[in-house]
Amino acid sequence: MSSVGTSGLVLNEKLLFEHSDPGRRGYSLSALDVPAVELPQELTRQEISGFPELSEVDVVRHFTRLSTWNYGVDSGFYPLGSCTMKYNPKVNEVAARIPGFAQVHPLTPDELCQGALGLLFKLQQALAEISGFPAITLQPAAGAHGELAGMLMIRAWHESRGGKRRKVLIPDTAHGTNPATAALCGYEVVPIASGPDGVLHLDAVAAAMTDDVAALMVTNPNTLGLFESSIVEICQLVHERGGLVYCDGANLNALLGIARPGDLGIDVMHFNLHKTFSTPHGGGGPGAGPVGVTEALAPFLPVPVVVKDGEGYRLCSDRPDSIGRLKAFYGNFGVLVRAWAYIRTLGPEGLKLASQMAVLNANYLRARLEGTFHLPYPGRSLHEVVFSDRKLAGGCHTLDLAKRLIDYGYHPPTIYFPLVVKGAIMIEPTETESLETLDEFCEAMLSIAQEAVDQPELLLQAPIRTRVRRMDETAAARKPRLRWEE
Ligand SMILES: *Cc1c(COP(=O)(O)O)cnc(C)c1O
Repeated sequence: MSSVGTSGLVLNEKLLFEHSDPGRRGYSLSALDVPAVELPQELTRQEISGFPELSEVDVVRHFTRLSTWNYGVDSGFYPLGSCTMKYNPKVNEVAARIPGFAQVHPLTPDELCQGALGLLFKLQQALAEISGFPAITLQPAAGAHGELAGMLMIRAWHESRGGKRRKVLIPDTAHGTNPATAALCGYEVVPIASGPDGVLHLDAVAAAMTDDVAALMVTNPNTLGLFESSIVEICQLVHERGGLVYCDGANLNALLGIARPGDLGIDVMHFNLHKTFSTPHGGGGPGAGPVGVTEALAPFLPVPVVVKDGEGYRLCSDRPDSIGRLKAFYGNFGVLVRAWAYIRTLGPEGLKLASQMAVLNANYLRARLEGTFHLPYPGRSLHEVVFSDRKLAGGCHTLDLAKRLIDYGYHPPTIYFPLVVKGAIMIEPTETESLETLDEFCEAMLSIAQEAVDQPELLLQAPIRTRVRRMDETAAARKPRLRWEE
């Protein structure tokens, strides 16, 4: 059994407090050559006791060892569906660390940061060309933040026309952030059931599309990895009845250079630059959720907007219909530099190939696994594929399979999402994985399915090769112990 990625997970490591040795120091100072003074009482801390006393090498080794406990895209295959955990080329990091980019102060006057503004402007143009939306804001800090920006623009558009619609339609396959965003913008969420084939049907949308509906929020391809094939007719219908269509663009990695959401009739879409355009994510680091809109919605874009002025660029806040400012400063700039570097490295043909390979890889996994794992929606998959645990033997469930994959050295796929699939196992390989990696992962999945038949306790007790065994996930989330002593 291989275990490429878990070696760090099996080590033990004491806390710094436990490593402490009284009198040990991580610094050395030369002898005083000025008179010693007593520190004022009010400036010295009394309350810290038992503070760890360690040498520099103790501390460096401690944190270096801890860093090997992490599992990342750089250490192994990370098939977390919907998250597009592709490998992030290091050249993007080099670009983001160029001193002129990394150290530019957010309050630098426009005329002194023309290079940075030029990059933002050109990134807007590239995203516009990729998505088919004429106007783009780069300001939102994440996909969910982009949803908020997009839905606020939809609300502002309705209000500018004197309309006060109260509802938003959301398919049952949607990501949880979609209904959360709609509710945050004051809308009532109306769920729509997708059809037996896993996609939205025109008649279901027609039945729900009343005069009180402000928008439909749809993900395309949806979270089952299926292309919403009636999207053009659905957009027409929503528009005829006075609504707008919001697209959750988290799955854009299936469409680059192949289809443009703006051409399909969608009005607003967010991008997840940290998914599709390669910025490290998953550890809570910064992301970016730019939003593309049609001409009709452009006046509502958040301020400031990056505009071209003669030969130069500037930030413009003189936009009376704007929904306002979303962030103290203009976006997560380092993420925008990475996305620009990635787009320029690949170019139009490279981006298209990335999507084609992402779809091919997902279909390869599907073809190798669908004989063994239950495939609830047999329609054509795009960049991810969703199985269920229905055929898993020995009383084992999706969670057991996911935990067992850790023993085999893999980050588990997304599980129990989308909600329409009971025991969902959602696998998104992305384009960056080689055939050998995909084959090894398939072997692991097939071997675990066989273990469920022969020795189900291996799954039920997994993970067994890690330092910490299966945790009580509820208690870990609700009652975390964050202090080393009570
Ligand atoms: C990731 C994701 C989001 C939210 O994006 P964040 O950048 O994590 O805020 C929304 N919808 C779908 C389908 C996603 O996969």
